[in-house]
This record gives sequence, C-alpha cells and structure tokens, in this order.
Amino acid sequence: MSERVIPLADHRYAAALPRVPAAAVPPTGLLGDRLGRPLRDLRISVTDRCNFRCSYCMPKEVFDKAYTFLPQSSLLSFEEITRTARLFVAHGVQKLRLTGGEPLLRKHLEVLIGMLSELRTPDGQPLDLTLTTNGSVLAKKAQALKDAGLQRVTVSLDALDDAIFRRMNDVDFPVAEVLEGIAEAQRVGLGPIKVNMVVKRGTNDDQIVAMARHFKGTPVVLRFIEYMDVGATNGWRMDEVLPSADVVARIHAQFPLEAIEANVTGETAERWRYRDGSGEIGVISSVTQAFCHDCNRARLSTEGKLFLCLFATNGHDLRALLRGGYTDEQIAGAIGLIWQGREDRYSELRGAAGAEVGLGDGQRRVEMHYIGG
Ligand code: SAM
Ligand code: SF4
Ligand code: SF4
Repeated sequence: MSERVIPLADHRYAAALPRVPAAAVPPTGLLGDRLGRPLRDLRISVTDRCNFRCSYCMPKEVFDKAYTFLPQSSLLSFEEITRTARLFVAHGVQKLRLTGGEPLLRKHLEVLIGMLSELRTPDGQPLDLTLTTNGSVLAKKAQALKDAGLQRVTVSLDALDDAIFRRMNDVDFPVAEVLEGIAEAQRVGLGPIKVNMVVKRGTNDDQIVAMARHFKGTPVVLRFIEYMDVGATNGWRMDEVLPSADVVARIHAQFPLEAIEANVTGETAERWRYRDGSGEIGVISSVTQAFCHDCNRARLSTEGKLFLCLFATNGHDLRALLRGGYTDEQIAGAIGLIWQGREDRYSELRGAAGAEVGLGDGQRRVEMHYIGG
C-alpha cells in the first residue's frame, strides 16, 4: 500500500492531511461523517453555463457578457467524472444527479450518461441516475438521453403564466417549450418526472395553485422549493421566502391534502398527497425546516472540486488528484477522509440564528450555477 500523501490545497483539514496515508479510508460503502451521516448522493455539475438568467441563481446584472465562465480545459472530462463517480459509488453513493448550470448545454452529454449508467453499487445494483434541467432543450434531447441510459429527469419550472415565466428566466423563454419538453420526457419514459418550482413571494407565489391544478392527476410530481440564500449574488431576503407551510395551506384550501411518509431517508422533500387520490406534491423547506440532520449529499463542481454543503465557501480539489498521477486507492482514501471530517449543517445554523449566517472576512459562498442544485 502506497504511503504517498495527498495535498488538498484548500481543504479545511489541510494541516492534518499530509500526515495521513492516502489509503486510510478504504471504500466499504459504509462511510459516515462527523454527524454520522452516510454518503449516498453525488450531484455532478457538468457545466457552469446556462441559457437562462433566473434572478435567484444567475442574475443578469452579474452574469452578463463580461462574465468569464470556466475554460474548457478546467472542466472535468467525461472519463474524469466517471472515474470519480466510481470511487464515490465504492464509498456508498447510490444516486447520481447531473446538474449545472444547464447540464443539457454540455456537448455530447449522452456519452457521459452512457458511461455512468454502466456503474454498479458494490452489491451489483444499478445506480439511480437522474438529471435536473431547465427543460429548454429537453424536447429535442429526451430520446437520446433515455437511449443513453438516463432513468428520469427533474425539470425546473417556476410559473405556468407565460409572462411571469419569461420574466423569471429573464431571457424571454416561453413556457410552452418547457411544457413540450416535459411531455416529450414523459413520452420517452424518463419518469417519474419531478417538476421543481422555486417560490419567491411577490414574484410567482400566485402561480402555486395554478401549477398544482396543472399537474394534479398526472404522473408528474410537483415540488415547491423555498427560495434559498445560496451564493452571494441573488440579493436574497427573508421576506421573499414563502414558507412551505403556506404553500401547503394554499393548495389544501383548493384541493385537500394529507401528509405521507418519505420514500427514503435523506429525501429532501416532505410529501403530501391529494385526498382524492389524484397524485402527490412535495415541499422542500430548506429555509424554514432544515434537513441537515440526514443530509447525505456531496457535490462535485464543474472543475472537480468536492463541496460538502450547498452553502460551502471552499471545495476540495479532486481534479488535482485526478490529474496528478494518484491511484484510485489514494483518491478514494482522500474522499473518505474528507467525508469523515464533514460537519456542515448550514441551514440548521441559519434556522437557529433566525437569519442568514455571516461569513469570515474575504469568504464568499459558492454560486448555485457552479455547484449545481
Ligand atoms: N439549470 C438546471 C435547472 O434550473 O434545473 C439545473 C441547475 S439549477 C442550479 C438546480 C436547481 O436549483 C433548480 O431547480 C433551481 O430552480 C434551483 N435553484 C437555483 N437557485 C435557487 C435558490 N436561490 N433557491 C432555491 N432554489 C434554487
Ligand atoms: Fe440556469 Fe438553472 Fe440557474 Fe435558472 S436555476 S439560471 S436555469 S442554472
Ligand atoms: Fe445539506 Fe448543507 Fe443543505 Fe444542510 S445546508 S441540507 S448540510 S447541503
């Protein structure tokens, strides 16, 4: 076993790392962090670019023509992504979600999906392989994604009203084309489809009931996401957050609902079903009801940095290891060590503080379009 040690430049535990042999944490599928949380879900951002400019994610004033996105050479290649994903799977990851930016803008994405779809858990099971998209080119790509081995998709859609939708994506993109994308994804079998709506009070909260009505009685599961204070550019304010409890109350007043059990531990959405049996909705209450206690998600940025929390300021540079001649055993050891040191629980701390949690001088939270949702 090699004793070569791994330098992780921007790791919080950097001081400790050089003394630890890389293979200190062999992959057993049973990794736990400092709070006992297993590693089950890896979100992989495949591009930091997007054709939308949703104000809560990539506000136009910041992400304008002068903004510099990552150069091609910085992006992890499909081989690097697949190699990394395989090491995470050995540590217990069962679910892979491709995200971005807009993942469908990454050229030849179906090739990556084909590669990832061949991975198996240590007991030989296929992974849950999914993707989150704004749906803008889904109608065109759904069949190729399905053929490549993608199992299902989550589509973001913030309004049914065309004018509100165009205003929210801020590039004048029509809602009809996203609805076509959802229909095509359904037709080719990329289901069960989830539709995510970020709710901003005063911007699109009047769309809640219309959205519920539209998807009620279809196999699509609509989920309402509380507007979060991710990144540093969206000008988040607590008074623009509509608590999920209000979302549920508004829908319940029209279409009676009852709570149902989570599908799996670590599921972000709280589930509700229509009493008349016409389907279910979910609410993701990252602001008003933090779910850090069973957060089992790791995030791999477009350029190969590993983030342990959506609200992190720093990532761990796995690309340096991938391109630095390290063995699988060494990189798996580093991933294990990083996860074992994890104690992130930002939303819980924010909840306890009753407000956004401040950062140290010169620190900046990572942006959503870079890390993926
Ligand atoms: N472009 C794709 C999309 O929009 O589905 C994938 C990437 S996007 C960053 C992933 C998810 O994050 C989307 O569902 C989006 O609505 C959500 N999101 C982005 N910024 C958010 C914020 N400030 N609060 C809550 N959700 C947010
Ligand atoms: Fe693009 Fe998705 Fe961010 Fe909207 S939420 S700007 S679609 S990455
Ligand atoms: Fe997980 Fe961080 Fe979100 Fe808590 S705040 S649920 S630890 S990503």
